[in-house]
Amino acid sequence: MLNLVIFGAPGSGKGTQSAKLIDQYGLYHISTGELLRDHIARGTELGKVADSYISKGQLIPDELMTRILEDVLDKHAAEKNGVVFDGYPRTVPQAESLKKLLQKRGSDLHAVIGLEVPEEELIDRMIRRGQQTGRADDNPETIKNRLDVYHKQTCPLKEYYQNEGKYIPVDGHGIVDEIFDHISDGIESATGIRRRSAKH
Ligand code: AMP
Repeated sequence: MLNLVIFGAPGSGKGTQSAKLIDQYGLYHISTGELLRDHIARGTELGKVADSYISKGQLIPDELMTRILEDVLDKHAAEKNGVVFDGYPRTVPQAESLKKLLQKRGSDLHAVIGLEVPEEELIDRMIRRGQQTGRADDNPETIKNRLDVYHKQTCPLKEYYQNEGKYIPVDGHGIVDEIFDHISDGIESATGIRRRSAKH
């Protein structure tokens, strides 16, 4: 069993590295941002509520977000070797909720991978992604708000997880496969668990 959080600012590569974690460790991927975008695309009630926050670059309220997460966890997580949480938690109360949700299921969080990328590169990456994918919140105004929210509400989690001895910092600047090599080295030294195929 391996439960990981992939942590970092918007644009730090969490989605890209999650895809490799799923493949190499047989994990179930929970991306709260993707879940919400899916609701928006389907026009559900939750999607309408979510859109009003996402389009402004604000966070969905903690209680609502945690309910969504719990629902997904119960439906799918047992199918795999563990979970990679991508985009959750984003606040200290969410981290507390995650701890309780996992404890209730007799499980625990094993490591938090912190992708560290300089701010200018984050902005460049999000602008590019917006142009390539049409993702609505990847526009200059919303990007600025998302980075502000990240600094104010999400950054304190780094210290939170450092205090728990779970934070593994990884330089998220550079070539995708090399960044993943550093992630898998960090996981192996923290948990003893190895990736499926040899290093890049
Ligand atoms: P992401 O795809 O992770 O960058 O998330 C896109 C947007 O979805 C964020 O800017 C938030 O508005 C919302 N969102 C995603 N995850 C969370 C979360 N854990 N808590 C609150 N809002 C979230």
